[in-house]
Amino acid sequence: MSLYHRRSPSKGLLRGIAAFMLDTPIEYLKGVGPQRAEVLKSEAGIFVYRDLLTYYPFRYVDKTKFMTVSEIVDDQNYVQLRGVIESMEIIGQKGGKRLVALFRDATGMVELVWFQGYNWMAQQLQKGTEYIVFGKPAFFKGRVNLAHPEMEVAGAAGRSASSAFQGIYNSTEKLKYRGLSSEGIRKLVQTLFLQLKEEHVRETLSVSLKQDYRLISRFEALRWIHFPEQAEQLQKAEYRLKFDELFYIQLRLLRLNKTRAKDEKGFVFPKVGHYFNSFFKDHLPYELTGAQKRVLKEIRADMGTGSQMNRLLQGDVGSGKTLVALMSMLLALDNGFQACLMAPTEILAQQHFDTFKNFLGNQEVSIALLTGSTKTRARRQLHEQLQNGELKILIGTHTLIEDPVKFFNLGLVVIDEQHRFGVAQRAKLRSKNVCPPHMLIMTATPIPRTLAMTFYGDLDTSIIDELPPGRKPIKTLHFTEAQRLRVFGFMKEQIAQGRQVYIVYPLIKESEKLDYRNLQEGYDLLVSEFAPSEYQISVVHGQLSNETKEFEMQRFIRKETQIMVATTVIEVGVNVPNASVMVIESAERFGLSQLHQLRGRVGRGAAQSYCVLMTGHKLSADSRIRMETMVRTSDGFEISEVDLKLRGPGDIEGTQQSGVMDLKLANLAKDGQILQMARNAAQALLDEDVDLVKGENVIFAENLENLSKNRPNWSKIG
Ligand code: ADP
Ligand code: MG
Repeated sequence: MSLYHRRSPSKGLLRGIAAFMLDTPIEYLKGVGPQRAEVLKSEAGIFVYRDLLTYYPFRYVDKTKFMTVSEIVDDQNYVQLRGVIESMEIIGQKGGKRLVALFRDATGMVELVWFQGYNWMAQQLQKGTEYIVFGKPAFFKGRVNLAHPEMEVAGAAGRSASSAFQGIYNSTEKLKYRGLSSEGIRKLVQTLFLQLKEEHVRETLSVSLKQDYRLISRFEALRWIHFPEQAEQLQKAEYRLKFDELFYIQLRLLRLNKTRAKDEKGFVFPKVGHYFNSFFKDHLPYELTGAQKRVLKEIRADMGTGSQMNRLLQGDVGSGKTLVALMSMLLALDNGFQACLMAPTEILAQQHFDTFKNFLGNQEVSIALLTGSTKTRARRQLHEQLQNGELKILIGTHTLIEDPVKFFNLGLVVIDEQHRFGVAQRAKLRSKNVCPPHMLIMTATPIPRTLAMTFYGDLDTSIIDELPPGRKPIKTLHFTEAQRLRVFGFMKEQIAQGRQVYIVYPLIKESEKLDYRNLQEGYDLLVSEFAPSEYQISVVHGQLSNETKEFEMQRFIRKETQIMVATTVIEVGVNVPNASVMVIESAERFGLSQLHQLRGRVGRGAAQSYCVLMTGHKLSADSRIRMETMVRTSDGFEISEVDLKLRGPGDIEGTQQSGVMDLKLANLAKDGQILQMARNAAQALLDEDVDLVKGENVIFAENLENLSKNRPNWSKIG
C-alpha cells in the first residue's frame, strides 16, 4: 500500500496506517536494541510494539501504602519502606562484586543489594537522605535483603502526581539479566506510550456497543491497565479489555453456529418410524423422565430442520444420557441412515454395546462393536457391512475415525464423554460424509457454564437436569487411614446384604510405578482381610491385557466377585447397579470432577449407596475443600463450579487446545458475569446483522478477521 495516496485516504486506509505503528519491530523502541529485543522475543513473546502494549501487569501494588521493616514476613511479595541509608560499601570479588547498603527505618534494618550497575548506584545514593524503597524482600541468614530495589527520594517533586498503583510485570532470569525486571519493562511501556497516540490503536468495539455496556475506549483502557492512577481506572480498564477478549470469542462461536446452520445442509429426518416406535412401545423398560423427553424433542426438532445438528448434551452422571443417545440413533435408522457412537475407552464402548443390546432385547437392529482389539477378520467384515449399509449402528472407540472405516450413509454421530476427544477428532468425524452427519456430543460430567459457553459456544445445548425417579441420594463420608478398620467393617456389612464394592486407587502418570505398588499393597491387604473367607476380589487396571480386564469386569458384573479393585479405568460410564459402595483411596489426589465421576458408579440401583473418601490425616487447603464439597453436595454443576474456582480454567481438561488459552486478562472462573454480557452482546449483534456489514458493524468483521490471522488457535475451535 502506498502512503502517497492522491485522494484523501479512506477510513479503512487510515486504520491501516495506524496499525503500522504497532507493527513496528520491538528493537526500534528507544531503550531496546538488538540484545534486549532478542530476550523480549524469546522470553516474553514480544516481537512488535503491539505485543508490548498487551503485555499487561499481572498484579499491582498500592504505592500509597508503606510497611515497616519489622512487619516484613517471610514470603512477602513486595514492600514499600521509608527510611535512610546508614552506610554502603562495594564488597566481594569479580563476579560476586556488589553494592550493599544498610537501610534503616524506626523499626529495624534491611540490606539493599545491587549486583549490576553498582558503581553508578553508589554515586547516586546519599547517606542520611530519606528514601522510599520498593522491592521484593528475601530472607538470607536471618537478614532481610532487597535486591535491585527501586529507590526514590522521599518527598521528591512529582511523586504525588504519579500513579498510586504500580503494575508488576512478569519477568524471567534472562530478562532481568538484560535489565528487564518488572521495573525495566515498565519503563519500556512508558517509552512506548510517549509516542503512542489514540489513532495508533485500533478501536475494536462500536460506539453503540461501548455506550450500551459503558465501556471506555480501547486506547484509554490500554493506558489505564498499565498506569492506573486510581482503583476506578484500573477497574474500568480491566472491564473493557476483558469484555473485548470474551466478546470476540463469543462473536466467533455464535457466528460459526449461525452460518453453519445457514450454509451446511443437514440430512432431514422427518419421520418417526418402526425402529423408534417399536422400541418405545415394546422395549423401553421404564417411563422416560421429563428431562429426557424434553431433550429428545429438542434433538428431533434439530434433525428435522434440514440443517446439520451440533448439539451438546449435558447431564449429571446417571441422568440417563445413554438412553437418549440410543433413541436418537433409532430416529436416524428410521430415516434410512446409519448411526455411530464413539466412546473414549474400550471398556466404555463395550459397555455401551452391551447396554444397547440389552435395551433392544429381541428388536431387530443390526449393531456392532469396533475397537482396537477387534480381530482383523471381523474388522474386515465390519468394514464391508458398513460400506454396503447392512450394518446400522456402530459403537466403538476412536478406531471409528480411522481411515478404512467408510459408512454407507452416516446420519448421526454420538460422542460420549466429549472432553476426552480432541477438537480435531470431532472435525474428522464430521468429514466422514460429504454432507456432515448430525452430531450429538455428550459430556461425561457437567461443566461450568462459563466453560461450556466458551468451549462449546458454537453448539446448541440440551440439559438433563433430572435424575430417574426412585434414586436415593448417595451418602458420602470422609475417613482417614486411622479409621480403616471401620471402613472394612462397613464393607463387610454391605457385602453381607448382597451388595458389591468398588475400591479405586489413583493412577497418576508421573508416579505410575509407585501407584501400582500402592494398588498392589492395597490389594494384598484386602486379600488378607477379606479373601480367606467367602469373598472374591476382581482387579482391573491399565497394565492388564484387555482380555484379562474384560474377564475381571465380567466376573464382577455376574456378581461372582464382591469387591472390585481398580484404577480409574472404571471411572467413566461403568454400570453395575448392584454395586453400592465406592471407596476412593488417596482421595486427595483426585480432582473434583474425577471424584464426582467415580461416585457416580454407585447409586444406580434401588439400595442406599455410599461413597467413602479415604485420605491421609494432613490435607492441603484445596484438598480439604474438595472433600468438603463432595460430602456436602452431589450436584454435578455445583461441583464443577467449585472445581473451576480451585483449579482455574487452564487446568481443566481440554482447555489447552482451545482458544481460551489466548485469554490474557479474562478468567473464566471469575468473570462469568462479563462473559454472559459479552455473549448477549454478540448474540444481539448477530441477530441484527449476521454478516456484520451494516454501518459500524464492519469494525467487528475486520477485527474478527484480524484475530484469526494472529491466532492460529482460533481456527481450531469448533
Ligand atoms: P449417564 O447419563 O451417566 O450416561 P446412564 O445413561 O448410564 O447415565 O443411566 C444411568 C442409569 O439409569 C442406567 O442404569 C439406566 O438404565 C437408568 N435409566 C435411564 N433412564 C431412566 C429412566 N427414565 N427411568 C429409570 N431409569 C433410567
Ligand atoms: Mg454415560
